[in-house]
Amino acid sequence: MSRFWSEVTKSLEPYVPGEQPQLANIIKLNTNENPYGPSPKVIQAISEQTTADLRKYPEPDSDALKQAVAGYWRIAPKQVFVGNGSDEVLAHVFMAFFKGEAPILFPDVTYSFYPVYCGLYQIPFEQIPLTDQFRIDVATYQRKNGGIIFANPNAPTGVALKRTDIEELLRQNTDSVVVIDEAYVDFGAESCVPLINSYPNLLVVQTVSKSRCLAGLRVGFACGSEELIEGLERVKNSFNSYPVDRLASAGAIAAFEDTKYFEETTEQIIYNRKMLTDGLKKLGFTVLPSKANFVFTSHPKGAERIKDELREQSIVVRHFQGARTSDFLRITVGAYREMKTLLAALEQIVK
Ligand SMILES: *Cc1c(COP(=O)(O)O)cnc(C)c1O
Repeated sequence: MSRFWSEVTKSLEPYVPGEQPQLANIIKLNTNENPYGPSPKVIQAISEQTTADLRKYPEPDSDALKQAVAGYWRIAPKQVFVGNGSDEVLAHVFMAFFKGEAPILFPDVTYSFYPVYCGLYQIPFEQIPLTDQFRIDVATYQRKNGGIIFANPNAPTGVALKRTDIEELLRQNTDSVVVIDEAYVDFGAESCVPLINSYPNLLVVQTVSKSRCLAGLRVGFACGSEELIEGLERVKNSFNSYPVDRLASAGAIAAFEDTKYFEETTEQIIYNRKMLTDGLKKLGFTVLPSKANFVFTSHPKGAERIKDELREQSIVVRHFQGARTSDFLRITVGAYREMKTLLAALEQIVK
């Protein structure tokens, strides 16, 4: 604490990201990074931007990048907002739509950045319990609210809602903004982007960090009605007028253009996830059904203990304290060989 800090600064409980340890031969399965590098076309596109033109500011409204995203989803560029990673997009979302008197709603188990932003912007919130099967029950969101947000597939559970369930929620809830954080949607869940023309209060947030192998680039975006996007632009332009830099923009555009690479790597992750899930079950683990690039899994031997023993073998996975999560490990789906090595290590640990 410093006497120079404002009252808000003193009250903050910042988000703690998964660590980036510098271990030799590490198998890093703690932050849901994609094991496959970005498409070679992305590397090429970024290299082409490393010229004297870097002296110039990037496009203030990221029009070319918006066009690439809009083209992929077959929506209008005016229905797209972009930022430095979806975390930044989410920060603007909380400011633009959630900062009011009524509490916003999100699950008791979900992305832990949401309560952090509520602290930063002083937004009241209520956490709605997941069911015993760690599912979101949309009927439990039928109450007065200042907005609703959750990840689909949810994090850190990996469990996905069907688009028809989210439509049900949107039909019940027409007076506040519903934000679906689709950071992991490409690994087998149903995106709600096709619903944005029908529901003006729906905002879908996505990122190139997970399925497009570009966590280091920091590009995220939101799709929604023009009025929502305009609200986000107002907040963005009151904060930072040039959010996405030249290199990031070029890389992200190339990633959207190379659909073949995207589809191949995504399918490989889904394949590896099935292999990992089957292997874990054989070793006595309980595994929640995942549509993400990670699994949420528990074992009678105890999650924290298993995490520590894996770490001794330079395999890093994530463990979350908290009443409903502390029995579980969240394990990122890595490359096929990494999953084989992980399962071999776990076999020794649990036997
Ligand atoms: C990874 C993740 C994000 C943030 O992604 P960035 O675009 O890298 O900032 C947002 N939401 C959820 C649920 C995530 O898991």
